Amino acid sequence: MKELRTLPAPGPLPEESGSLFLWVRRGVPLLLGAGAFLGATMHAGGRGWWLLAGVGALAAAWPSFLRGEAFLRNRTTIVRQDCLWANALRPLARRFGLEDVWILSFCGYNNRRVRESFGIRRSHRTLILLPHCIQMARCKADILDELEACYDCGLCPVGDYMNAALLNRWEGRIFNRSHKAYRDAREHRPDLIVAVSCTDRLLKGLTKLPEIPSYVIPLSLPHGMCVDTDFSISHLLAAMEALVEPRRSSAEILPLRREGDIA
Ligand code: SF4
Repeated sequence: MKELRTLPAPGPLPEESGSLFLWVRRGVPLLLGAGAFLGATMHAGGRGWWLLAGVGALAAAWPSFLRGEAFLRNRTTIVRQDCLWANALRPLARRFGLEDVWILSFCGYNNRRVRESFGIRRSHRTLILLPHCIQMARCKADILDELEACYDCGLCPVGDYMNAALLNRWEGRIFNRSHKAYRDAREHRPDLIVAVSCTDRLLKGLTKLPEIPSYVIPLSLPHGMCVDTDFSISHLLAAMEALVEPRRSSAEILPLRREGDIA
């Protein structure tokens, strides 16, 4: 058994507003709704159609106001609609050189809602998903099969993650393929996912798994895509501390099981 080291205490979870996404997601339908109601007052002939368009626009804006329990109860529909907006406007953001800004704003908006929902009633079944590219490319440790194969040499974030995960008894997986991560998440049905990835995969992950609330942390890419990537382990620690019930004694531990497994 490895001797584990404790990591420095994390600071508070960073504030994320996602205001750009929120302004667009809520502002566009509200503006269209206001325009439609104005049209109804000015065009008596087609008033019914104008009113219908106005009500439809308000209905499109409504999910952006749901928070806390209401968000968790309706999350699949809400996240699906949010992802539609994020994906539909992504090409426009790319055209203006703001693709990453747009996706990160969506992620921040999503994180704020997840945080509001789990800040009080914490998660008991959390799954951490990490990409394999955080492992240094030239390292031969077979961490995909066994996290403890890491030598904790300090050259990549895997060592810090391994110490935190083993000390805190986190359930986590390191994946080399996104589809394996989605399949694992669907099989285990955690009540919260904490995922680390590049912006493109974070948006894809939120789009593919709208039924599971996910707190997402972006990778930094100092050497380009998919090679020797990095992320803030203190951000992960802060998220786990703020959103997840600590696993203090073995009696409190509920290991994640595949759906249908016998306890
Ligand atoms: S910390 Fe060192 S041993 Fe562990 S995965 Fe990274 S490079 Fe390999």
